[in-house]
Amino acid sequence: MSGSTLLKETGPREVFCGLTSIVWLHRRMPDAFFLVVGSRTCAHLIQSAAGVMIFAEPRFGTAILEERDLAGLADAHEELDRVVKNLLKRRPEIRTLFLVGSCPSEVIKIDLSRAAERLNTQFQGKVTVINYSGSGIETTFTQGEDGALKALIPLLPSSTKQQLLLVGTLANPVEDRLKTIFKRLGIQNIDSFPPRQSTELPSIGTGTKVLLAQPYLTDTARELKNRGAEIIQAPFPLGVQGSTLWIEAAANAFNVNKSLIDSTLEPLIIRAQKALKPYIEKLSGKKLFLLPESQLEIPLARFLHNECGMQLVEVGVPYLNREMMKSELDLLPENTRIVEGQHVEKQLDRVRANQPDLVVCGMGLANPLEAEGISTKWSIEMVFSPIHGIDQSSDLAELFARPLHRHNLLTQKTLETV
Ligand code: SF4
Repeated sequence: MSGSTLLKETGPREVFCGLTSIVWLHRRMPDAFFLVVGSRTCAHLIQSAAGVMIFAEPRFGTAILEERDLAGLADAHEELDRVVKNLLKRRPEIRTLFLVGSCPSEVIKIDLSRAAERLNTQFQGKVTVINYSGSGIETTFTQGEDGALKALIPLLPSSTKQQLLLVGTLANPVEDRLKTIFKRLGIQNIDSFPPRQSTELPSIGTGTKVLLAQPYLTDTARELKNRGAEIIQAPFPLGVQGSTLWIEAAANAFNVNKSLIDSTLEPLIIRAQKALKPYIEKLSGKKLFLLPESQLEIPLARFLHNECGMQLVEVGVPYLNREMMKSELDLLPENTRIVEGQHVEKQLDRVRANQPDLVVCGMGLANPLEAEGISTKWSIEMVFSPIHGIDQSSDLAELFARPLHRHNLLTQKTLETV
């Protein structure tokens, strides 16, 4: 393990809740519907976060529990059954219905697993109903995907087939490119989880080697392991270095010949490193502070330091899974300050004291920091952008160069008008 300084901090947090992951999960599985069992706050979050991106009829909704539902849980169950019945009547194309729990106290009291069981009996054969929690008390925003995938695992059929399973939502074109590379390496059986249709679930068993595409799937990885799968230890596919090591780790697990790996990856690496050059000039030497939110912070810090020359002031993470992050931690420079958890006030004090050139943070903190003259990048953009793989490295670097460029333009303009 690297000589990083690992610290823990607790206190007030400023992060999005797990409901946010519905935004990319509903795009990934168009035959699934995400029904948030929550309050008006949850409805506003999901509509403002996702609504703007929906042009067809949405594949998510909120069963809002009104005050009167507090009167008795029986009412709440009846209300939920009524909403589900109406929804399935109106949308017969739904194949999987996710009941997503939230944090209002009246929702916590409802046993959603029992509700899912009851609805499964009622709609047997037509739709599969499963539940997970996206509550802000239990989850940060990417953990919503972890919860949804974990809930699907009991439905995966068993098989001992030798296969590579890519786990974690990727943009479809990026996933297609990665699969093409693996096929060129001679790995023929490749599946992905979550699948592109909720009914096309991959099989799982002792012949399955799991390659995690996202670093926030702790519970999912544990459950897949419990079903007999082997988790391939690798960094995550961000940047040239991370993506190369990620592909190599899978190739080694399938005993692919080294010369085939090198000849397949070398042209991609050369092209990506060339495309990265203009961004290295813009980012090199700049001070970077990452606040905890997406769980992508460690792989991003590794990429921005090792390949773009940025200086790491602090790398905040919502939680640190040392086993899953081992390969990433090994690649970080000595003495990287990693802070697990958050005390938002203290962390902001450290941001101000260090005056970084760029802060990666949640949307709620970005505006106040910008008002103080500090450039920011929303961490949520990383989960909506196609940033994985060797080919995407320059696009990833560009996401961080853009706010610095804007900051320069604004500063110049201010000087000119003074
Ligand atoms: S789940 Fe909790 S944190 Fe998330 S929107 Fe609903 S009330 Fe807010």
